[in-house]
Amino acid sequence: MKKFEVACMPGDGIGVEVVPEAMRVLEAVAKIHGGLMFSFDTFYWNCDYYVQHGRMMPEDGLDRLSQYDSVFLGAIGDVTKVPDHISVWESILTIRREFEQALNIRPAKIIQGVHSPLVNPKDFDLIVVRENSEGEYSTVGGKMYRGKDEIAVQNNFFSRRAMSEAMHYAFDLAKKRKGHVTSATKSNGIYHSMPFWDEVFQEVSTDYPHIQTDSQHIDALVAFFVTDPSRFDVIVASNLFGDILTDLGAGIMGSVGIAPAANINLNGKYPSMFEPVHGSAPDIAGKGIANPIGQIWTAKLMLDHFGETELGDLVMDAIEKVIQSGRTTKDIGGTLSTKEVTVEILSELNNY
Ligand code: ATP
Ligand code: MG
Repeated sequence: MKKFEVACMPGDGIGVEVVPEAMRVLEAVAKIHGGLMFSFDTFYWNCDYYVQHGRMMPEDGLDRLSQYDSVFLGAIGDVTKVPDHISVWESILTIRREFEQALNIRPAKIIQGVHSPLVNPKDFDLIVVRENSEGEYSTVGGKMYRGKDEIAVQNNFFSRRAMSEAMHYAFDLAKKRKGHVTSATKSNGIYHSMPFWDEVFQEVSTDYPHIQTDSQHIDALVAFFVTDPSRFDVIVASNLFGDILTDLGAGIMGSVGIAPAANINLNGKYPSMFEPVHGSAPDIAGKGIANPIGQIWTAKLMLDHFGETELGDLVMDAIEKVIQSGRTTKDIGGTLSTKEVTVEILSELNNY
């Protein structure tokens, strides 16, 4: 019997509503598989915990989480109790940093039945692999005076190792998909870092002779995202470019309530963390109407990460059937509650 040990952190707001739904889906696919089980431990380290203890998690919190195969997170944030810069910084951002989760992965796909702002939404099915530890988001630089004028200098930071790891991950993903990787670059405008990025991309691509590649300047790339998304399969991008592309992708998908994400540790020393794109959504928390699909799709990414891609595909298939037939929550045009959507997904899974 294969066993995956998962640390669940529902967090705040709708996180506590959607995480248990995704756990039910994981239990269901484990049953379908027959030779696999999940053991879940749930940690209620959230803003209420902060109010009681003055911190977002216990002192040995990271040590405890590090024992698991992965962290499955809902959402953190309740500004009525803790300012976001404290709650998010001390939990999610600390975990990402300390567990060396150097990549952020976000699939974006238009599912028939969801209203997308794209005029011609078919063919939008891609994954953005974002380098998440360096690049443009560096602290190197500063503010100073030049003559009487005030200026700021911001240095980007690109290591061959981090770029190469992100790119290898993208190529490996493409092997399991349509076999195409696009590099998001801007070497016609950014003088040092982006030509280096291009050079490493060129080198890494020689390890994958069967994968097609292209390089797009980020400005042209965002336009093609909207006008001709069929060009894309896997896109590998630096921290800043990836940040912009992933939010654009979530916007095009039609609702933040269905968008999934993963933070991947590449060195195997620590768990990866799976969390949907949406936040704690205080405006709808406690009403039972949050869309659980973002969390359930995120669970599918965790299955893929564990190597259980067939089970991941089953979950995706069930999600698509439920959305296509309008059995959804209000944010994507349906009338069902959070729990009712899960019941529909489970009943689709029961057909296998
Ligand atoms: P973050 O915590 O990342 O800063 P945010 O506060 O910017 O997030 P969210 O909490 O994601 O934003 O909420 C943005 C909007 O999307 C809200 O109106 C919220 O109700 C809606 N929303 C978010 N997640 C869901 C969901 N799962 N189902 C339905 N609506 C959602
Ligand atoms: Mg928020």
